[in-house]
Amino acid sequence: MTLPTLGERLGVRRPMDAGQSRTLTYGEWASLSTGLAEALRWADCTPTIVAGPALGARIARLWRRSVPVMVWRNCIYWPGALEDFSAPGDERSMALLQHELQHVLEFASGQLTAARYALNPKNWRYRYRLDAHSRWLQFGAEQRASIVEHLWLIERGLAGTGASEHHRRVIPWANSFHLGD
Ligand SMILES: [Zn+2]
Repeated sequence: MTLPTLGERLGVRRPMDAGQSRTLTYGEWASLSTGLAEALRWADCTPTIVAGPALGARIARLWRRSVPVMVWRNCIYWPGALEDFSAPGDERSMALLQHELQHVLEFASGQLTAARYALNPKNWRYRYRLDAHSRWLQFGAEQRASIVEHLWLIERGLAGTGASEHHRRVIPWANSFHLGD
């Protein structure tokens, strides 16, 4: 038995209806690491969460036990998605949302395409090593999204390591994104 989260106790942990879609909530926008919301706006895209599996995810279910969260352009296909991931108690989901938004951003900016993702095995690797000399483009798509996901957790003291300097330094929107200033 697991204890109810604060969000559940407050009654805000509501799943979306299957097949429904929504844009990000105010709380989700406000919760993102500094720079990501601006980068998404700059790329002129409207991230949309769809409460259901992507076509590829249905196929992936044949060999994976659960249906993975997948991104196609500005749509994040998320079976069982909540109406708001920013409520207390859903930190892991909020970090995963930030991971998926990095994919959305890269689709919007043209850095990532389905073909580019599929053809380069480097893009499928999640684990990464980060140090003072790391460069953003040496990482594959899932490594970049994982770095972005971990930044969110580190900033809230929820990841094993305490320092976020390497993460912030290497992510383009986290350290050098200026809107014309
Ligand atoms: Zn990913």
